[in-house]
This record gives sequence, structure tokens and C-alpha cells, in this order.
Amino acid sequence: MQSGDLCEICGRRKAELSCPKCGRRVCRECFNEEKGICLVCSETICERCGKKHSVERCQICGRLICPDCLVRVDKVRAVCLDCFQELGKEGVYRAIRERIIEERKKLASRLKEQYLQRGKGF
Ligand SMILES: [Zn+2]
Ligand SMILES: [Zn+2]
Ligand SMILES: [Zn+2]
Ligand SMILES: [Zn+2]
Repeated sequence: MQSGDLCEICGRRKAELSCPKCGRRVCRECFNEEKGICLVCSETICERCGKKHSVERCQICGRLICPDCLVRVDKVRAVCLDCFQELGKEGVYRAIRERIIEERKKLASRLKEQYLQRGKGF
């Protein structure tokens, strides 16, 4: 190891490991030992296959997923193959619909709260 070989992620600590995915030289703190890859890769890599870069988050289980491991539900939503297989097409649509309703309810109650708080101020 050369002296002055600094971690390519934080740029502060000494690089002691190299990531097998991207080849970055990183320090121990910037390395995910459990997955055996650097933090940048562990945050972007597909959590299903662990091979490709993720592009979406599964709307059901919340894992990061790559194009090979996802099933698109609509323009903005996708689920992973595992959830799709487990729930089936109908189940996935139902779960997402419920989630959208839930999100809308939360938003509505938040807006109401804000409105009420503002009202008190006057
Ligand atoms: Zn580092
Ligand atoms: Zn990496
Ligand atoms: Zn994948
Ligand atoms: Zn999933």
C-alpha cells in the first residue's frame, strides 16, 4: 500500500480495503463488511440480486431494485419480483392502491393540522 493512499469516499481516512464492485479504495468506515462492498455501492446496488445498480424502490417491501428485478406497476411505481410473485398482480395493485389512499389521508390530516394551527395564530 502506498503512503497517502486515502479513502476515495470520505477522502479523510486511510484506504485499507478495495471494493470488488467499483474498485474504489476505501477505509473501513466506508466499507459495508456484511455485503463486502463499499458504502456507495451498498446504497445503490440492487438489494435483491446484489449485482446491478438499483433504479427503483419496491413499493411493497421498500428494497432497492434493479431493472432486472422489478415489475413496473405504473409510470412511477414498481415492485420487486419477489413481492410480485408473492402477492400476484391483483395483490400488488391492491396493496399499492391502499398505500396511495393511506398517503392521501395522512396528507389531508397534515394539511388540516397546519390550517388549524395557523387559525389559532390569528
Ligand atoms: Zn472513508
Ligand atoms: Zn464500490
Ligand atoms: Zn437486481
Ligand atoms: Zn418487494
